[in-house]
Parts: sequence; C-alpha cells; structure tokens
Amino acid sequence: MKAIVVGGGIGGLAAAVSLRRVGWEVVVYERAAAFGEIGAGVGVMPNAMRALEWMGLDAEIRRLGTPRVSGGVRSSDGRWLVHLPDVGQEQIIAMHRADLHGVLLRALPSEILFNDVEVTSVEDLDADLVVAADGINSRLRADLLPSAPGPVYAGATAWRGVAPGPFDLPISQTLGPGGEAGILPLGDGRVCWYLAAVAPVGADLDPAEVFAGWHDPLPELVASTPAVIRHDIYELPLLPTFVSGRVALLGDAAHAMTPYLGQGACMALEDAVTLALCDGDLARYDAVRRPRTRAVWRGSRAAGRFGIGLRSPIAVALRDFVLRATPSSAAVRGMGKFATWQVPTQFTRTG
Ligand SMILES: Cc1cc2nc3c(=O)[nH]c(=O)nc-3n(C[C@H](O)[C@H](O)[C@H](O)COP(=O)(O)OP(=O)(O)OC[C@H]3O[C@@H](n4cnc5c(N)ncnc54)[C@H](O)[C@@H]3O)c2cc1C
Repeated sequence: MKAIVVGGGIGGLAAAVSLRRVGWEVVVYERAAAFGEIGAGVGVMPNAMRALEWMGLDAEIRRLGTPRVSGGVRSSDGRWLVHLPDVGQEQIIAMHRADLHGVLLRALPSEILFNDVEVTSVEDLDADLVVAADGINSRLRADLLPSAPGPVYAGATAWRGVAPGPFDLPISQTLGPGGEAGILPLGDGRVCWYLAAVAPVGADLDPAEVFAGWHDPLPELVASTPAVIRHDIYELPLLPTFVSGRVALLGDAAHAMTPYLGQGACMALEDAVTLALCDGDLARYDAVRRPRTRAVWRGSRAAGRFGIGLRSPIAVALRDFVLRATPSSAAVRGMGKFATWQVPTQFTRTG
C-alpha cells in the first residue's frame, strides 16, 4: 500500500514514520525549499510521548529533551497560584521544536522526502492514501471540503522565542489580565518562552510594552532573545469529517486549535499513530480522532476563556482565588486531563 503525505511539519513526518512502521510505502511532499521547523519550544506531553514511544523514538526524545516535573501557574506579579513540586505526575519533556522535528526527520530515509513540491490537488497523486498534513491553511482541505469554514482569528496574538540564558527556572505558565506567558526551560540553560495577548487582528504591538510590569524574568527573557517570532492565533472551526475518499486530514489541517493547552503538535502525533493503526480504514480514523481532538480543541478554548480571556480586575482576582484554593492533587488531575491518552490497541476493520 502506498501513501503520499503532503506537508513535512511535525504532523506529516510523524504520519510518514508511523505508516512505514506498519508496512506502508510512503513519500512526503513539502512545499518549502527545505525540511525544517521554525518556532520555539514544545512541551512533549505524556500522551505525545506514548505516540513517540510507539514510533520507537522515545529514547532520542529523552536524549534531546529535558524532563520537567516541578512548576505551576503564577499571576502576573509572580505569586504562585498553583505550585507543583514533584508530586509524582508524569513528566513533560521540554524541547526545541526543531529538535522534535529533527528526530522525526532522521527516522525517515532521505529518498522518500521531496521538498520544493507544492501539492494543490489530490487528483494526480497516485496513492492508496493521501495524508493532508499541510497545516492550518490546508489547500487540500479547502479542495476536499469546500463548504467547511476556514481558520478564524481567535482574538489574540502571540510572540515566541528562545532566550539564550543561562537561566535556571521551573516550567510555568503565568496568567494575567488579557494575557498569558509560558516558560519552558531547556536543560542547557536556554529558555523557550511564549507570550499571548488579547489584541485586534494584525495589531502591531511591542511585547515589551504589553508585558511591562509582569514578573521577572519575563521582561529579561524577551529583551535577551535575538529573534522573536510573532503571529496571530487562529483556530479552525470543527470540521464535519477528517476524511474524504482516500484522503485523511491530519494535524492542524484537521483541527488547528488555540495554544492554551500546549496540545496542538501532541494531537498531530496521536493522529499519526492512530492513522497507521487504522491501516487504511479511514472511517475508523475519523470515528476515533474527531471526538478526541474536538474535546481537546474545546478544552483549549475553555482554558483560553479562563486564562487570557479574563481582563477585568474582579474576574482576574476571582480566578486567582479559585486557583490558589485548588489542592495540588486536583490541579495535577486538571492539567493532566488530556494527557492520559493511550495508543489504541489494534483496530479491527469497520468495512
Ligand atoms: C503560539 C503557539 C504555540 C504553540 N505551542 C505548542 C506547544 O507547546 N505544544 C504543542 O503540542 N503544540 C503547540 N502549538 C501547535 C503546533 O505548533 C501545531 O499544532 C503543529 O505544529 C501542527 O503541525 P502540522 O504538521 O499539522 O502543521 P505545520 O507545522 O503547519 O506543517 C505543515 C507543513 O505543510 C507544508 N505545506 C503547506 N501547504 C503545502 C502544500 N500545498 N504542499 C506541500 N506542503 C505544504 C508547510 O510548509 C509545512 O511544512 C502551538 C501553536 C502556536 C500558534
């Protein structure tokens, strides 16, 4: 059986690795001039780690990433709202996105990887399965599901970067009025960070101004970062299906979500393993992945409403009070709610 994967991001490469693992012949077409990944950090959640284990890549991920256990949630003045020392929860592996992408890329033979190939229609693709992993603005999705709405602005803009450091910090998320920040320390003293703020689409804001007065070392992280990436946050309204004929949508092409749970790329890894285990049974893939990603998509939205979405001092004070009153065990359960996913056991074909 032959599959063509369109898109060489984390989702597309994970699909290629996974399909090859169950015996498919695969090629990957990427429109960029080279396979690569921009961006900053990614937290490989326990659910994503299970997907990577199934792909046989966990040792390499652990070698390049840094396991993080302690950390928590802070208010913009730096007070801990939820402080989780090592309470036995599963670890998040902090790593640079380029490293995660690189692990997937090295797991594939170079002769199946084709860059500078932009796929605009599936018609001429000679394959039993086409995996549309061409990102949030998927050309193939627009072709296959012309009546489905495209991405919608989620009301906030984000900045990401890697501060060279060295810093010695716990992993943390900071919730302030109309904004949030995340700190993902790598093991070598560098720190991946992101900031997000409620803003009109395309607003030309200076993060140093928007986050002035937020706790240390956030201003220093931003100021010391050589290249800050900024982009508006979009989400894809829930689709009626992830499949059409022999085509399966995967990753952001299928379910781009807001970043407030840090699960977007993790979902793409789950998709990839599930697609391979479905072994060409796309109805099964759709039936399994749509409810799962819908729940996480909605969870991410809810996290945004509770986090970045609160702007009035009273609402922020109330949220902070609720978080401070939450016992650690309940906080761990809440934060890990979507990370309990297990690799599905082998499916039987539905038709
Ligand atoms: C601010 C922010 C923070 C985030 N933080 C996290 C996090 O901490 N953890 C996490 O899990 N997720 C996070 N995410 C989400 C994550 O970045 C995405 O979910 C993930 O990268 C999606 O991967 P993908 O392979 O589906 O799509 P993409 O990474 O967009 O890859 C699509 C690929 O397809 C190629 N392509 C596009 N069109 C074509 C075409 N026509 N023909 C051929 N190739 C094509 C593109 O060049 C690209 O290489 C974050 C997102 C944002 C916006």
